Amino acid sequence: MQQEGRPCNAIRRDGTPCAGQALPSSAMCWAHDPANRERVRQARSAGGHAKSRAARAEKLMPAVLKPVVGYLLRALVDTRDGNLTPQQASAMAAVAGALTRVFSVGMLEERLLTLEAHQETPAGRRTA
Ligand SMILES: [Zn+2]
Repeated sequence: MQQEGRPCNAIRRDGTPCAGQALPSSAMCWAHDPANRERVRQARSAGGHAKSRAARAEKLMPAVLKPVVGYLLRALVDTRDGNLTPQQASAMAAVAGALTRVFSVGMLEERLLTLEAHQETPAGRRTA
């Protein structure tokens, strides 16, 4: 006999009781039920991967473009505070967009050349 809407019995790491609802077959919620331990671990690890993807994206950004992010963020605040006209901000955004496109095309070309170079050798194909 299970009651509906029982709270989870688990205590969180900060010492407060879990606010989740217990599963019908358990005294704990999905995240705290020992049967789901592995899946919870995988979900947490997937979250970590998302963070490392962001870190990798930042590493891939060409060094010359990194300060541009700072300029754009400052322009955002300056426009809000009235220290930069919306026209000036638009012009900055347009130039930054053009820069980004130039670099993305360059990076894509480089990656494509690398892929093509790797593809030709193992298959033993020869470009006559
Ligand atoms: Zn819980």
